[in-house]
Amino acid sequence: MLGVTPRTRGRIVFGIVVLGLLGLGLGYAVGMMTRPQGVELGVERPPVAYATDAMQADGQGNSAAPGIPGWRDLYVNDYADLLDDDAETRIRAQLEELYEYTGVEMTVLTIARRSDYGFEGTNEAFATRLFNTWGIGNAEANDGVLILVSRFDREMRIELGAGYGSARDDDMQWVIDEYFLPNFRADRYQIGIEQGVEGTIREIAGVSPGQYESSTLWRGFSTIGRGLESLGGWLWGLLLVPLGGAAWTFRRWLRYRPRDCGTCGTRMVLQNEDVDDAHLSGGQRLEEFVRSVDYDVYECPSCNRMEISRYPAWFSSYGTCPQCDYRTMSSDTEILEAATTTSTGRKRIDYQCHNCKFTDSEVRTIPKVSKSSSSGSGRSSFGGGSSSGGGASGSW
Ligand SMILES: [Zn+2]
Ligand SMILES: [Zn+2]
Repeated sequence: MLGVTPRTRGRIVFGIVVLGLLGLGLGYAVGMMTRPQGVELGVERPPVAYATDAMQADGQGNSAAPGIPGWRDLYVNDYADLLDDDAETRIRAQLEELYEYTGVEMTVLTIARRSDYGFEGTNEAFATRLFNTWGIGNAEANDGVLILVSRFDREMRIELGAGYGSARDDDMQWVIDEYFLPNFRADRYQIGIEQGVEGTIREIAGVSPGQYESSTLWRGFSTIGRGLESLGGWLWGLLLVPLGGAAWTFRRWLRYRPRDCGTCGTRMVLQNEDVDDAHLSGGQRLEEFVRSVDYDVYECPSCNRMEISRYPAWFSSYGTCPQCDYRTMSSDTEILEAATTTSTGRKRIDYQCHNCKFTDSEVRTIPKVSKSSSSGSGRSSFGGGSSSGGGASGSW
């Protein structure tokens, strides 16, 4: 009937279903493996005794101890000026999001050199002292994270709160070696810091920025996607060309497969576009004109029976008109009042059908701008956490 036997068709359908289920299963499994976890804390080690309480006593947490800088911002202090404003905003948004969803305080500090602050000592000693003076992380969980880049010392450190023990040191070393150092060696400080912060967030929270609320399946697919991405573009090409070609061929086959007349059984003939139009209504012609729907007209050469197939476009700015039912209604949106982080906004949408002249207008509420995409999530100081010197270092 369709050029293939029912048995072959059954096999094709079965194959597609099996492949689909395998794909879904794989996506789900990877999604489960990468689901957000509470931060797993290792055995607690006693914090190094750089008393933080006295230094935090003014409630601002902003006072610099001898030998180290103070902070001006809870998320990014770019004293070495390695980041442009946009990068700083992006990083801050990711760190705020991390804090909102997991409670983990992660902060990024860049400095020119330690000696600028009169500090004489190692990268590690500097990081631990700074961590404990600032009091990074929740005081009970001790789950804070400091990313320190010392530009002209050519050294960096990811210092972890005492709550992690030494369980995560290797992960942090991996992030440093994989993301930070290769870029730093090529003088790409901003890229290195952005990739490194994302990598650190993934290791600490088990989730990429922006995916805390996404479904298991979606997380799985995006993790697989990242894996494939790292394989390089040429492999994508190898995979996608035949896949895309097959999908396109299949769609064409579905649409132009030979069909027989339902009345007399004769093979029907596809009419060309000009003949088409004569058999279409005004609304259908308009749909074709605005490309929201495509029509094919088949005619039986022996009994002249007509068959019209409708192919709605996947993407079209035209909606279906509630009055005439043709997909010929355009919409126009005007913002009446923009949304802010504290109040919702309003927009008016005007609808107009180009077939029957139906018009309508509605006012809709625009949701508040989510906090994680703007600065200030209500926190005014670090949580008083401490580090016992865990983490990892790198130099370039
Ligand atoms: Zn016929
Ligand atoms: Zn209409």
